[in-house]
Amino acid sequence: MIRTIIKAKRNGLLKLVPASEPTRLDCLADKCAKCCKTIGVPVVTIAESQKIDGNAIVRTRHGMFIRAEKSVCCLLKNNLCSIYADRPKGCREYPWYNVQGRLYYDKGCPGIKHDVDERPKVDNIQPFENFFPLTSKPILWLIKKLCIRQIDCRF
Ligand code: SF4
Ligand code: SF4
Repeated sequence: MIRTIIKAKRNGLLKLVPASEPTRLDCLADKCAKCCKTIGVPVVTIAESQKIDGNAIVRTRHGMFIRAEKSVCCLLKNNLCSIYADRPKGCREYPWYNVQGRLYYDKGCPGIKHDVDERPKVDNIQPFENFFPLTSKPILWLIKKLCIRQIDCRF
């Protein structure tokens, strides 16, 4: 998990900053696919898993995830999501994050623009911790330290 985060950071992703100004996503889709190639281990709920090929899902002691090889999601085909309509919530939400009830976004996403305000409501975004189920507090603390800027990391 930490290795994936370090890889994402080396690729310029997982630099979460507060969305305190007009911000929108203009996704570059197949011309980019950076998120699916770099962070590709989204958590899958039981309901979501019923719409996804079982071979694409791994079950670990931390929960269910989409299978990834070297952090590249196995469902990425020709630089496009092959289950786009049924992709997990975490994929739908990216690059937005809910950090302690405050909206953040991944500054590394090349589709982020600041001309129009299309920020989602933070209440519609799952808490950041949901991406790391059953992770110990010290590891979660380290992940937050690595990924989130301008946050009080004493929790
Ligand atoms: S990194 Fe951003 S622009 Fe690139 S595919 Fe993902 S959401 Fe779209
Ligand atoms: S499920 Fe689709 S959107 Fe999510 S990481 Fe995989 S290819 Fe990308």
